[in-house]
Amino acid sequence: MTDPLLIVEDEPKIARLIADYLAKSGYASDHLDHGDAVMPWLEEHAPMLVLLDLMLPGTDGLTLCRQIRERYPALPVIMLTARVEEVDRLLGLELGADDYICKPFSPREVVARVKAVLRRTHGAAVLGETPATQAGLTLDEDGWRALAGGTDLGLTAVEFQLLKVMMQSPGRIFSRDQLMDHMYRDHRIVSERTVDSHVKKLRRKVADVWPERDIIRSVYGVGYKYQPEE
Ligand code: CA
Repeated sequence: MTDPLLIVEDEPKIARLIADYLAKSGYASDHLDHGDAVMPWLEEHAPMLVLLDLMLPGTDGLTLCRQIRERYPALPVIMLTARVEEVDRLLGLELGADDYICKPFSPREVVARVKAVLRRTHGAAVLGETPATQAGLTLDEDGWRALAGGTDLGLTAVEFQLLKVMMQSPGRIFSRDQLMDHMYRDHRIVSERTVDSHVKKLRRKVADVWPERDIIRSVYGVGYKYQPEE
């Protein structure tokens, strides 16, 4: 399962057009039309990418792009802007957006840019950190999927993140606090019980495919660890 993309755009027609084209290419998307809604929404969701309009009611796109960069450094952002002349200015501001698209744009162009940015950002993550396959468990970072012996576990984005973090250090015991840090960069609103509930769901999904293997173990009083082998 792939977590949706987020479209932040106050013009409903444009938002719908983009969403339709993304859907045709296999990308689900969520939509927000007010700048003030974005950061609170990101506390609760983990989109693969944000399409961010520059001119928005409430917090504007420039401010949001900065805030996203600060709080979620790995989350790709594509800015949507109404004027070509703005792009130079935007580039000069070094907001750290991954790409810019000028309006009017063709939805096809948006989809192509989205694909290119995802390939670049998620592709880099694969090369960097986690070995793609360990003891029959495969992380498909492009698709945000985990496969156990070839079967898609159907993980949510949060479960995928959890598994990925633990797979980076097999055998290491992670406290709930450490896992929270990796799952949500700002975890003030998340309780330890939320971590437990995500881990529980993740374990259940693994157990559905591999009932005999116990790769994510609870360590009493401490937290969890990923243990691919006995
Ligand atoms: Ca706008």
